[in-house]
Formats: sequence, structure tokens, C-alpha cells
Amino acid sequence: MTSDIDRKICQKVMGWHTFSQFDYDWWCPCPKGDHDLTGLTVRKHETFSPSTDISDFWLVEETLMEKGLTCEYIDALIEITNILIVDSDKSKQVANYRLTSAVIFLLLHATPEQRCLAALEAVS
Ligand SMILES: [Zn+2]
Repeated sequence: MTSDIDRKICQKVMGWHTFSQFDYDWWCPCPKGDHDLTGLTVRKHETFSPSTDISDFWLVEETLMEKGLTCEYIDALIEITNILIVDSDKSKQVANYRLTSAVIFLLLHATPEQRCLAALEAVS
């Protein structure tokens, strides 16, 4: 089953559309109205889950890079991962200023779901 986050990532970040064939739902990367699958890879919905599988998210990250959205993505990921710091310090600005290495650490350890939320923010 495809989660709401995974569905939004496929549609809004990857630009994929969905179709059904052979009793499965598939994600298709073809340009809209085209549906020529030559050289393209389609994926069963249940086998692509970037919100839970980091190896699936790498493809999302590559797409963000191709779209020139790395700064927007990193900014959003800092916001999302800093929620943990804000909750304890009650001051995000202080946290950002004092905890630069901690912020980097949080970025490196961001969960696939946090990364997906940042990716969606980056394309919004
Ligand atoms: Zn298609």
C-alpha cells in the first residue's frame, strides 16, 4: 500500500503518474500524455517507498539535484530536523547558531520520512 507521503513524492517531486495493469498499480515516469515506455522504468506502487526506505529516497534526492532544488531541500530539512532541538531549547535561532555540528549530525541522520517532508517542502 502506498502511503500519502510516498504518493505525493511520486507525483509532486518525481513527476510520475499512476496506471493500473496486470492487477497492479504502477508509477510511470513518462511525460504527460505520452506513455511511451521505451527506456523508462516503471515501478509497482508497493515496491517504491521513499518515506520508509532510504535507498528509494536516493532517487528522490537525485531528482532534487537535477531540478536545482538542493538549497531549498537542505533548508527545509534543517527546519524539519531542528524540531527536536526547538522542543528542548525553546529557541530555534539559538539552536541554529550554537549547534552547527549538531544540525549537520541531524541532517545526516534524518529519517527517510523527514527527508520526504523536506523534499515536498522544496517543491512547494
Ligand atoms: Zn506513462
